[in-house]
Amino acid sequence: MAVLMKGSEVAKAMKERMVNEVERLGQKGIVPCLAIIRVGARPDDLSYERSAIKKCEGLGIKCRVFEYPEDIAQQDLMEEIRKVNDDSQIHGILLFRPLPGHIDEKAVRCVVSPGKDVDCLNPVNLAKVFEGDETGFAPCTPEAVVEILDHYGINPEGKRVTIIGRSLVVGKPLAMLLIRRNATVTVCHTRTKNLKETCRQAEILIAAAGRARMVNEEYVSEGQVVVDVGINVDQDGQLCGDVDFEKVEPIVAYITPVPGGVGTVTTSVLANHVIRAAGNDT
Ligand code: NAD
Repeated sequence: MAVLMKGSEVAKAMKERMVNEVERLGQKGIVPCLAIIRVGARPDDLSYERSAIKKCEGLGIKCRVFEYPEDIAQQDLMEEIRKVNDDSQIHGILLFRPLPGHIDEKAVRCVVSPGKDVDCLNPVNLAKVFEGDETGFAPCTPEAVVEILDHYGINPEGKRVTIIGRSLVVGKPLAMLLIRRNATVTVCHTRTKNLKETCRQAEILIAAAGRARMVNEEYVSEGQVVVDVGINVDQDGQLCGDVDFEKVEPIVAYITPVPGGVGTVTTSVLANHVIRAAGNDT
């Protein structure tokens, strides 16, 4: 039976560290504050917003929601973001994507001040991830994967890591974070040949393809660490990961559940970034 790498356990340990830091900032009169900027009201965004607010407020981080209509003009949205940038009481900015089709998302991302860009929207922060410069903010989900590995004592150094997925939000930055930790990383995608074999050869397998339960017993091998980043809804409307948990869990050594795995830690990383951003202000 595999060790279940529970997000709640990781989040609990992170909370202990963060509470101390929030207290230390409080002594200096600083209350960390996250601005959540949302265009429209997509159910996924609202659900993430609720969990981010719950996590942040539970740690003493203030949250302010800035909601705009779907048809907001690009210039107006950029102006609103600039105002948030200039507000000295706000330390972090979370902007939900994708933005509506009429908005040039790249232009908007560039407006978010790098020092407040707690979810790595601005290419300046993404460049820092690729440079191995830890002064920026990495995207929260890839960092959550590293937090989980660390918490469970799995050192990626020298290990063969296979990541399924090459998006800029998960796969690519995660590869960079793990290379920084001296892992030997293979990044797979839709054109990868021998995907199953490549996955089986890994010591750490990370699934971030967005395909419900695609990773079955043919993709894994004994002793592996399996991290499931996927959040999908199956044909029956049930939430599930990219990994077929029932088939994979009996084979591998460590595995994350969905729900209750990476997603749980992602909001903790977000909160941690807001605290760091607030600390940088001192
Ligand atoms: P994406 O669609 O942008 O990228 C998916 C990647 O997987 C692509 O690079 C694609 O080439 C690859 N891929 C897709 N199908 C494949 C296949 N059959 N074989 C090999 N490669 C394949 O998705 P994303 O934004 O990177 O998100 C990936 C998954 O992670 C989604 O399920 C998403 O919901 C989830 N996610 C979870 C969190 C979290 O906090 N847990 C955060 C962000 C995304």
